[in-house]
Amino acid sequence: MATIKLDVVTAEKVVYSDDVDIVIAPGIEGQLGILPQHSPLMTMLQPGELIARKGSEEFSLVVSGGFLEVRPDRVIVLADSAERTEEIDIARAEEAKSRAEKRLEEKYAPETDNARAEAALRRSLIRLRVATRRRRRRPEL
Ligand code: ATP
Repeated sequence: MATIKLDVVTAEKVVYSDDVDIVIAPGIEGQLGILPQHSPLMTMLQPGELIARKGSEEFSLVVSGGFLEVRPDRVIVLADSAERTEEIDIARAEEAKSRAEKRLEEKYAPETDNARAEAALRRSLIRLRVATRRRRRRPEL
């Protein structure tokens, strides 16, 4: 069966690099399914789950946004942040969520602080949503 190379990188590290059967990514305009031979494409990502399937294996990552490029033989994801769903620290994400919510309640915060807090809140919510959903489905994760 044909495969496509997937590279997920952040400014800090290579988070995933392997040949896969399909990539499912959270495009800014909706979920994207990318199979080998997909036509070239460039899109922004929204915070969400990125799934790679290879045979019977499924690999899940949470990305907080970034870009995805489909080339003839590969998919490149430049993510603002990305971590394996099974490595998500739920307590840490809950703390980040509470911190962000508290900042957003502070009435006189400058707009830039609000935008930062909103982005932090979105990251924490997606981490919590994906990690808890996956752990319910697959208790070993
Ligand atoms: P925090 O305030 O907890 O650092 P954050 O949303 O500001 O959260 P990011 O700047 O998005 O964190 O990410 C920094 C690094 O930490 C990235 O490598 C990211 O993958 C990782 N990371 C962030 N939150 C978690 C988490 N809850 N569990 C595991 N890794 C995380």
